[in-house]
Amino acid sequence: MSFPVTRLRRLRRTGELRNLVRETRLTPDAFVYPMFVCPGEGVRKEVRSMPGVFNLSVDEAVKEAREVYSLGVPSVILFGLPDKKDEVATGAWADNGIVQQAARAMKREVPGLILMGDVCLCEYMSHGHCGIVKATPLAQSLGAAARDTLKSARVVVVQNDEEKAAAIEKVASQMADYARRIEFEIDNDASLELLARTSVSLARAGIDVIAPSDMMDGRVGAIRRGLDEAGFINTPILSYAAKFASGFYGPFREAADSTPQFGDRRSYQMDGANVREAMREIELDIEEGADMIMVKPAMPYLDVIAAARERFDLPLAAYQVSGEYAMIEAAARNNWIERERVMMESLVSIRRAGASIILTYYAKDAARVLG
Ligand SMILES: [Zn+2]
Repeated sequence: MSFPVTRLRRLRRTGELRNLVRETRLTPDAFVYPMFVCPGEGVRKEVRSMPGVFNLSVDEAVKEAREVYSLGVPSVILFGLPDKKDEVATGAWADNGIVQQAARAMKREVPGLILMGDVCLCEYMSHGHCGIVKATPLAQSLGAAARDTLKSARVVVVQNDEEKAAAIEKVASQMADYARRIEFEIDNDASLELLARTSVSLARAGIDVIAPSDMMDGRVGAIRRGLDEAGFINTPILSYAAKFASGFYGPFREAADSTPQFGDRRSYQMDGANVREAMREIELDIEEGADMIMVKPAMPYLDVIAAARERFDLPLAAYQVSGEYAMIEAAARNNWIERERVMMESLVSIRRAGASIILTYYAKDAARVLG
């Protein structure tokens, strides 16, 4: 039946009609609110590139958690800013780690709130990578390279200062050349033990859901084994299964102070062009024991969310990341867009694509709009 019998505008005539036939509905119980916990007391430091988002000390984080819960948002996910970083991510798995402290306090003060713990090492590693870093054999042979270079330098005959300077320059540039070729790699398998140790420590502190975001191969299985061996057989894993290497993480790195000190994360996070590989990542995590899966970021990857929804039956989460939030905030501050309208539209789009759980910095504001 087509026009004039069919007129789709009939059901758009009033707000009540539009509400009646709405296909996608948002409710605050789909939201998870990300929080950044830092050392100290009474600390409430706004993240420059994320207006309205703060680094919070444990006491302030508890207040915030209470507010989140009172708005009908059932869950928060915790990230930590340790006071010290090192090469083995001690702050991630120490019993008195910053997230462990926050989890214990929140469990005590807001017992109904579901506490998710982001599991990664980058915030706690001095180099800012998500796993253990080791130098490739090339770097280990830098000493040998130096000997080689100097050996070749010995046959240079210098007769004046100019030639001497040139010879020195030659040695220096050869050494610089070697140094440039130093490469590092992330040691996948060695990192798994630390990730499992971190997960057990978080569960012990009261974290309800373990959410690994590191993108090492085999981490879900290693974490499941670790949790089970420690007796946490009922602690579910929400795996950041398809996490893409993305420019949209920029503001988060400021918020969590987790910028890699060298290189980037493309050797472990996914290539943004690959949707079939994303399905394989998700599939493997499910085989290893993931209870819920996640796609991150959200808006630039709505097709990946839709494909995952089509293919897998696990609860599906999507993370509306810092850059997505920052873009909307920046445009709204310039009065280029209507903040609230775009905020809600962005969340509906993620839900419509198929995510039933949305991690978003808008959790509180959107809950207020919906409430
Ligand atoms: Zn990381």
